[in-house]
Amino acid sequence: MTAPTWTPALLGTAHGEGRIRCELCPHACDLREGQTGSCRVRRNRDGVLETATFASAVAHVDAIERKPLYHVRPGTRVLTTAAPGCTFRCDYCVNHRLSQYGRTGGTGWVGAPADPAALVSRAIAEKAAIGLSYTEPGLAPELTLALAEHAAPAAVPLLWKSNGFLTAQAVDLVAPVLDAVNIDIKGASEAEHRRLTGAALRPVLDAVERFRAAGVWVEISTPLIPGVSDELHQLAAISREIAGIDPGMPWHLLRFTPDFRMARAAPTTPDRLAAGVRVGNEAGLAFVYVERALDAAGRRTRCPDCTTVLVERGIWETRELRLIGGTCPGCARPIPGRWE
Ligand code: SF4
Repeated sequence: MTAPTWTPALLGTAHGEGRIRCELCPHACDLREGQTGSCRVRRNRDGVLETATFASAVAHVDAIERKPLYHVRPGTRVLTTAAPGCTFRCDYCVNHRLSQYGRTGGTGWVGAPADPAALVSRAIAEKAAIGLSYTEPGLAPELTLALAEHAAPAAVPLLWKSNGFLTAQAVDLVAPVLDAVNIDIKGASEAEHRRLTGAALRPVLDAVERFRAAGVWVEISTPLIPGVSDELHQLAAISREIAGIDPGMPWHLLRFTPDFRMARAAPTTPDRLAAGVRVGNEAGLAFVYVERALDAAGRRTRCPDCTTVLVERGIWETRELRLIGGTCPGCARPIPGRWE
């Protein structure tokens, strides 16, 4: 399709003269009649808040390790779908053709109206969970809830890979139907986060805590962008922030791949990724991972107490899972995660 299909959206409050305040993300757009929000995928049409994100631009099955979610049923698979749109405008986004819809030249609409029943049927046939990823799933609470209607009776878990830039109302709306979320913490300070994403950091940290309080499993990702977000003092600040919430929360250090407006930048060096792991460990984080660039050691889960290897991973798959009922076979320490 070359144009989106607009459908009624949740979390809009009308407040006179045809205006609607969108309460989905902290950008808090106050939309006049006919106006589209800064995400480009929600609009006020005839006094009704509408969304373009009840759509699917991609649907394929991949490993849960790719989300990345390392402490959620290792070795299982995810039917991943995405609708165009994002609340951030990161210069390095590898999915910019989808995520930056409506913002930059060459980002036309891709996708067709989503069929939640068909997506869940396919997930059941593939023995897979359903994941919303690549773009910002927080812009698709309506689709998430519709998927849940079909997924919950079939015990198909719903997963998100999100930037976490959501209001408390939005988190409360979707948390009851989500099993796990990987949330990006992309900057160490408000100024750095705004420079990188165009948005505030505090709401992201608040969303991490709110999802966890609601019982959703949360892992964190941080892209290490040379000269922008890979300084050791920046990584130390992020790891302290995570440790302050829960030192058992997994932290994924993502290697930056040159792309989009940063296509000429250098990729993250393996040395810097290894230094990031040390910084995380020094801050008290028990589970710090690097998917690529540091070989199997970067992807391995060890018991924080007795160092027994618990999960051995290839780049995008689990090779060996040694946990017994979610505990270490060496010392019986419970390991945080959704293992069954
Ligand atoms: S979701 Fe979109 S329309 Fe709503 S507040 Fe955020 S940027 Fe604005």
